[in-house]
Amino acid sequence: MTRNDSGERRAIVVGAGIAGLAAAMRLHRAGWQVLIAERAPARRSSGYMLNLVGGGYDAAERLGILPALAERDLGLFTSILVKADGTPKLTVPAAVVAAAVGPRAISVFRGDLESVLYEAVRDTAEFRFGTTVEAVEQDGDGVTVALSDGTTERAELLLGADGLHSGVRRLLFGPEPEHRVDLHHMVGAFPLRRTPREPAEGSGTTFIGPRRTAAVVNLGPDRSSAFFAYRAADPESELERGPARALAEAFGDLGGGVPEALAGLRDDPGGAYFDSVSQIVMDGWSRGRVALLGDAAWCVTLFAGYGAALALAGADRLGAALERHGDVAAALADWEAELRPEVRKRQALARRGIAQFAPPTRAHIWMNELTMRAIRLPGLRQLVQRSVRSAR
Ligand SMILES: Cc1cc2nc3c(=O)[nH]c(=O)nc-3n(C[C@H](O)[C@H](O)[C@H](O)COP(=O)(O)OP(=O)(O)OC[C@H]3O[C@@H](n4cnc5c(N)ncnc54)[C@H](O)[C@@H]3O)c2cc1C
Repeated sequence: MTRNDSGERRAIVVGAGIAGLAAAMRLHRAGWQVLIAERAPARRSSGYMLNLVGGGYDAAERLGILPALAERDLGLFTSILVKADGTPKLTVPAAVVAAAVGPRAISVFRGDLESVLYEAVRDTAEFRFGTTVEAVEQDGDGVTVALSDGTTERAELLLGADGLHSGVRRLLFGPEPEHRVDLHHMVGAFPLRRTPREPAEGSGTTFIGPRRTAAVVNLGPDRSSAFFAYRAADPESELERGPARALAEAFGDLGGGVPEALAGLRDDPGGAYFDSVSQIVMDGWSRGRVALLGDAAWCVTLFAGYGAALALAGADRLGAALERHGDVAAALADWEAELRPEVRKRQALARRGIAQFAPPTRAHIWMNELTMRAIRLPGLRQLVQRSVRSAR
């Protein structure tokens, strides 16, 4: 059955992350009934801090989740660029950061964004946690999906919103190496279980050195986090070492709040995000009635600072395309044509963004510092603001 007893169109969404939950929300609004299969046994929270600006903020507004997100907004903080030993080099007050970013911006933990989306769909979508997809077959009328819980489900549309290492992509579009472009960097990001002693509450320190960045943000209890990015010739061996060892080796020489953050990770590595930085580049995001969405289809990486934004915008536009077209194939074609230029732009910006997070030379570090210094000077601030906002 591709429709339920009430005659609603049925979709199966794989992955209860940002893209999957936003799609479930938007498809429900478009009159669809949604079943979500999520590999994790239960919902998780916390994670790393992310910013929604520009198109991401607009999409959150269209989805109607801004008021709930505003309650969890981490706000902006004083940004301190530090030397390797943790001593300050340059301070940008929170008010100046706010002026550069503009009013339409919000910072939340990834888990909080997921929670807001989950609350919005928990009563309308059917959830199967601890479940993944094992086989997919399509015919003229619909798609039949064998799930790992032993059931078989039928729907008009299957969405693979299962992230960078998507299982749906592997099943329908071929092995991961055919689509994954390794950028040869690693990222580690995690919440700090204990409020850090350094830096002071309401501020964050960033060390940017050749080929690496370390940031520690203190926003008080349960709101503090750390972030690390570095160049890695062999990401596989970094992954084998695991976050605690790999990050200690790459950042163990730094001072300030870094040693305490790394010690916290060693004692409790559970909530850490640690992965190689890769983009997903595909010729097409759908095959018949199966479409990929979010990082599974077009991962832009954290260097773009825009993956969650695209997950929300992609889900919102997919719902709108399904409202415009009764025919699934026509809707998917229209949706992809509309979204692709934005994804291409973000992937290109991310490749350029590497020089900000892991500067290849001292000249790049100097240029970064110059931008931060310029933002503090009223005369140049507007120029920097324009360039910050035009990158959205
Ligand atoms: C450190 C860091 C900072 C970032 N900062 C920003 C930022 O400031 N702004 C921004 O817009 N973006 C940011 N991003 C990017 C953003 O977090 C991602 O692009 C976004 O989370 C992608 O959402 P998604 O739903 O596509 O994938 P995911 O969030 O990865 O969700 C995928 C879901 O699918 C589930 N799953 C995986 N495999 C299977 C399977 N086989 N079967 C069933 N379920 C499965 C997973 O458990 C997960 O729940 C950042 C990323 C990182 C790592």
